Amino acid sequence: MTVALRMSNLYAPTLKEDPAEAELASHRLLLRAGMIRKTAAGIYTFLPLGWRVLNKVADIVREEMDAIGSQEMVMTVLQPAELWTESGRWDDYGPELMRLKDRHARDFCLGPTHEELITTLVDNDTRSYRELPLSLYQIQVKFRDEVRPRFGLLRGREFVMKDAYSFHVDQTSLQEHYDEMSRAYGRICERLALEYRPVVADSGQIGGKVTTEFMALAEAGEAELVYCECGWAANVEAAETRVPRSPAVSEPVALDKRPTPGLHTIAELAEAWGISEHDTVKTMAGKSPEGRLVFFCVPGDRELNPVKAGWAVSGVELLDEADFKEFGIPKGSLGPVDPPAGTLVIADASLKGDVAWGVGANEDGFHLYGAQPGRDFEVAQWADLVFAQPGDECPDCGGELLGARGIEVSQVFQLGTKYSEAMGASFTDENGDERPFVMGCYGVGVSRSLAAVIEQHNDDGGIAWPISVAPAEVAVLPLGDGEIATAAEGLYNALADRGIEVVIDDREERPGVKFNDADLIGWPFQIVVGKKGLAEGKLEVKDRATNQKTSVDLDCVVEVVVDLVHGERAKFAH
Ligand code: ATP
Ligand code: MG
Repeated sequence: MTVALRMSNLYAPTLKEDPAEAELASHRLLLRAGMIRKTAAGIYTFLPLGWRVLNKVADIVREEMDAIGSQEMVMTVLQPAELWTESGRWDDYGPELMRLKDRHARDFCLGPTHEELITTLVDNDTRSYRELPLSLYQIQVKFRDEVRPRFGLLRGREFVMKDAYSFHVDQTSLQEHYDEMSRAYGRICERLALEYRPVVADSGQIGGKVTTEFMALAEAGEAELVYCECGWAANVEAAETRVPRSPAVSEPVALDKRPTPGLHTIAELAEAWGISEHDTVKTMAGKSPEGRLVFFCVPGDRELNPVKAGWAVSGVELLDEADFKEFGIPKGSLGPVDPPAGTLVIADASLKGDVAWGVGANEDGFHLYGAQPGRDFEVAQWADLVFAQPGDECPDCGGELLGARGIEVSQVFQLGTKYSEAMGASFTDENGDERPFVMGCYGVGVSRSLAAVIEQHNDDGGIAWPISVAPAEVAVLPLGDGEIATAAEGLYNALADRGIEVVIDDREERPGVKFNDADLIGWPFQIVVGKKGLAEGKLEVKDRATNQKTSVDLDCVVEVVVDLVHGERAKFAH
């Protein structure tokens, strides 16, 4: 189908000014280029150009899914609460789940993800190992009532996701498909012209253990990453951490209780004692789901990572003000020596060799210097508890880690039997035994990826779309009417005939307006048709990615531009 657009009747209301609410380039430019409009916080309408781009992103995802034998379907957005009660997530998911009641007061939710629905569906219709493996996907709007919806399409409350789910007889089969999916996710990033890194990640709400996130590198990204030249990379919250330790004191000293009135932070303590924060130990308090007090000890210059605290004690929550009162412990002077009876003390593994800890005395206004594990207190568990940071040792090769920021555009998970067991979803194996499905799930943020592309491909003038997702490939900009318009229409028709997606700016606007809008919207190639050019038989062709302008003979401009487009298309082909 030929795609030929006319700016004169295209609904692309561009804005001259930057919208005040938009901090990030993608948010600002999508609004300015007339591609999206806000309905409410984190909820956006796609206008024709934005919708064209979104569909192109979705089509790339679709092609890559179809190529690995995943089958497209569509599940319902509306899901009954019973499914979620069965898996335990009606309670666990928390306020992010958009809940509603029907007229009979029955509970429903708007799907934030579809593990429950598809597990039930496949369980009802799949009986035998002969029907496995099975991989299904959908591209659909998802709902999550995010605490902080922001950055336009990057963190919405209504957004488009591709979610795929796979069902297997065993781990080997799951691993095979997981690897195929991971490769497909890499190709999707490449075809979107995203500079990306697959990183070790945490599985969060979804569950399961083995998981990889695909991060589009961007300063604006919310995720912090660490990576090594050797290829290892991880999200700081999930990275196995090797904290380099070099304590100032290496021989045990006597335990010394010191008054520290008014000192509540590590920084204040270190300053008062004339030592570095590195030589203090920070204790954070949490409680287990059973109500047991847990002390987490980490190096004073590092932060407790709540994700890892949860790995050490499943379901642990950090104490709030009321909890501190209830347990009767002083928030600013906690420590592992003589904590309240029954307290579980867990310490970061990097502290194992330290013999003189500077810690709180569990008494307001006092700290202890020289506390030694084994002598003055016992550590019940040594664990990896902190966020990784640049400068730490690479767990793979021992090299020094570097830091970067990223936008999580997609994630693959091995769920194993988490959902199939909780929901009693099983198949009959070759011996006639019932076994739970071994499952995987795989998500691509389609609307978030679109925004990530802009974060990586923009300049002061606007968006510079890679051709694979541009709303059209070539723009023809006539700078006048009469013979100029006639020549421009000729080019426009000739390009459309050659299968190029082309747009003509046939509005009665000044050249400056046309140039600005063309750059803002980000058409990859722009042909300027002006009086002078026509007289000289030369037209200017601009490459939006580099902003380089080339003068091309009028006679061969169609040929040249078709070649340019074909060259770009080839870079992103499946
Ligand atoms: P995040 O950690 O950023 O909140 P998530 O890990 O909860 O995301 P997943 O459950 O892995 O998200 O969902 C799959 C994909 O859907 C994500 O990789 C991301 O690209 C996209 N996505 C998730 N939440 C949002 C959102 N609020 N707005 C836009 N896209 C989202
Ligand atoms: Mg994720």
